[in-house]
Amino acid sequence: MRLGALEAGGTKMVLAVGDEKGNIFEETQFPTKTPEETMPLMIEWFKERNIEALGIGCFGPVDVNEGSPTYGYILDTPKLPWVRYNIVGAFKEALNVPIKIDTDVNGSCLGEMHFGAAKGIDSVLYITIGTGVGAGISIDGKMVHGMLHPEAGHMLIARHPKDKGECVCPYHDSCFEGLAAGPSIEKRWGAKAKDLTDNDEVWELESYYIAAGLVNLCLSVSPKKIILGGGVMHQEKLFPLIRKKFTELMGGYIRTPELSDMDSYIVPNSLNDEQGILGAIYLADEALKSNN
Ligand code: ADP
Ligand code: ZN
Repeated sequence: MRLGALEAGGTKMVLAVGDEKGNIFEETQFPTKTPEETMPLMIEWFKERNIEALGIGCFGPVDVNEGSPTYGYILDTPKLPWVRYNIVGAFKEALNVPIKIDTDVNGSCLGEMHFGAAKGIDSVLYITIGTGVGAGISIDGKMVHGMLHPEAGHMLIARHPKDKGECVCPYHDSCFEGLAAGPSIEKRWGAKAKDLTDNDEVWELESYYIAAGLVNLCLSVSPKKIILGGGVMHQEKLFPLIRKKFTELMGGYIRTPELSDMDSYIVPNSLNDEQGILGAIYLADEALKSNN
């Protein structure tokens, strides 16, 4: 089986061909420019490889609700040349294969559920903390979409009393992404996040915000496992701090076997940053099956 996969990001497009078992045969990248420049390169690459279906994990906001008249359209993104671009329609016309699209973070969540740390678990939360904060959510084996798709990275979070920094989100005075994503760390402390490794104060505050976001999500969607990825999570020391603060902030309110083993409940991504592309492979497999 030759399944095409695309992880569409704001700076780069990652393309792969693989199979339903999660083997990747070939992978390449193109910089994300305008659709006029980037789409023909991607279409040619997939055409030459005779793919049977295509799965796309896409930056948002994007219409991922099958049945909607604008299914597969990128919506009002800050990446202006892509606003209202029908990415699924363009690939469909050029490749004539079944296609399924989801958000990039739902793609990563699917990758971990089918090939990684959350294998065999049906209710999973995947959070990326990088340039932004994004959440992919699966409940009872179904990716959560709802009205649009979750944008839990922008949930409002109370500021820590000791935080002298500012929320860098242009929309909100005090949201998860604006307080905890890489750019907010860098603005608050005036240095690259990776150069702040030895400053304990930085990671104390960072882990507080991440734990607060996770507690809110745990209380609202009840995942059986939480997986954390993205550039900021390369700071491995964050994991024990987040687990400890999560338990403190939860205040003992929920008692489940999962929460009694925090080392297994909140874990790093497990697929060497291939979770997104593997999720897209899984989406391609789904597209093929629903077409047959
Ligand atoms: P994107 O979110 O754009 O896909 P990444 O997930 O790589 O990209 O996240 C980039 C962010 O992660 C930057 O803001 C950067 O400061 C931060 N980052 C990258 N490496 C590290 C590190 N080792 N420690 C802490 N933060 C890091
Ligand atoms: Zn926000």
